[in-house]
Amino acid sequence: MKHEDVRTAALPSGEQVPVLGQGTWFMGEDRRQFQKEANALRLGLDLGMTLIDTAEMYANGGAEEVVAEAIDGRRDEVFLVSKVLPSNASHRGTLLACERSLKRLKCETIDLYLLHWRGGHPLAQTIAAFEDLIRAGKIRYWGVSNFDTDDLEELEAIDGGNAVATNQVLYNLTRRGLEYGLLPWCQSRNIPVMAYSPIEQGRMLAHPALIRVARECGTTPAVVALAFVISHDGVIAIPKSSAPQHIRENRSAVDLQLTPGQLAILDEAFPAPRRKRPLEML
Ligand code: NDP
Repeated sequence: MKHEDVRTAALPSGEQVPVLGQGTWFMGEDRRQFQKEANALRLGLDLGMTLIDTAEMYANGGAEEVVAEAIDGRRDEVFLVSKVLPSNASHRGTLLACERSLKRLKCETIDLYLLHWRGGHPLAQTIAAFEDLIRAGKIRYWGVSNFDTDDLEELEAIDGGNAVATNQVLYNLTRRGLEYGLLPWCQSRNIPVMAYSPIEQGRMLAHPALIRVARECGTTPAVVALAFVISHDGVIAIPKSSAPQHIRENRSAVDLQLTPGQLAILDEAFPAPRRKRPLEML
């Protein structure tokens, strides 16, 4: 796998993955955008953003089809993440969902397979299915998404639960609650946190503090927002973009080091939590 020069974070196994990847939510919804979206992901790969996050939920499998097109002929470069819906996450349901995803992705293995959020099926069943999938070579690692600290503690207590390789959660400057409790919990166990909606789907980009820091750095608010998220140990961000200009911009966040003064401006505008808050999700 080549990562160009994108900094990496370690999975619990020691395997390195880039701290900046690519999301795919809302891709695959409109067939007319299919090639544009696949080209966007390919540009991201060229720039070293070789971790791609998708899910069976996105466009009812349509996003996985866009990913298949994007990684055609270059599967070896990619660290591929997909997710099973909680409603499918019984033992048998997980195995079947994974088969369907692999078919849409046109590949033999998903690198990291996540439970999208906690649902009604017992976690032990989902873990047992993940273990079967690893033994069968269909996935390489498994993880969870939208798990708060108490969910992770429950998971850790289940047989095999401590093999969790990632927790993918909502994290950006306007959603810093996890910095108290959840993030340190994961860091202490070397479980990477994958930050989704790292620019709050664009809603935060007009904030004056972000604009001020961006001007100081000669960059854009999105780049500052991404640089903030990945400045934390063990955090991987997965912004989604179908726009070549945005993808190039986002890539530059890896090389932006915010100064203590700039971090102080951001802290004042987006205060860090001082007590445990429930994990937010979109
Ligand atoms: P993001 O915070 O990544 O924002 C995406 C939006 O921002 C798009 O509209 C995109 O438009 C725009 N954008 C991207 N880059 C820039 C830029 N440099 N300047 C201005 N606008 C920009 O939100 P997402 O919710 O998509 O989160 C990222 C990924 O995380 C998802 O795609 C998905 O893979 C994952 N996710 C996981 C969830 C979970 O429950 N596990 C929940 C939500 C997301 P454009 O395409 O035009 O650039």
